[in-house]
Amino acid sequence: MALINEKVSLPHFSKRESEPNVIVLHSCYSKFSPNFFCYKSIISYLNEQKLSYHFLISRSGQIFELVDPDYKAWHAGESFFPELNINNLNDSSIGISLIATETSGYSYPQTVALYNLLRSLFSLYPIRAITSHAHIAPQRKSDPWNFDWQELKRVFKSEKVLIVP
Ligand SMILES: [Zn+2]
Repeated sequence: MALINEKVSLPHFSKRESEPNVIVLHSCYSKFSPNFFCYKSIISYLNEQKLSYHFLISRSGQIFELVDPDYKAWHAGESFFPELNINNLNDSSIGISLIATETSGYSYPQTVALYNLLRSLFSLYPIRAITSHAHIAPQRKSDPWNFDWQELKRVFKSEKVLIVP
């Protein structure tokens, strides 16, 4: 994808049975590093935990592709999307994580990068919905923290995409 700044290739992913049609948004940071926003520390942590996202977006708006969306990344865990009545969202979704803490919010370049990435994913895959990790795993997860869903809905209101919450 032309807008990707760097490919990193994480080891934990698997084959898909069908094309992805949902996007799950996450946020994450490096709890164990002095710099919460250090992407290398985040990637080391993901590898240790045998987790992966397809994309990670830094505070400066750099987009790292960690797993090709044609493969399954391991980002959602046990999950259920009630509006579409689908479970195990790893099977059918693309996971994008924005680097942020519970209180930092998101930078402007990071938000612009996310919107550009979403537009290009809409052109490549039959995306039906965008949702949050918190929505599909409410007992376990609360991310992406403080994300502006109203603004996302406003920006993409002309797309035929369900945005929940
Ligand atoms: Zn998450």
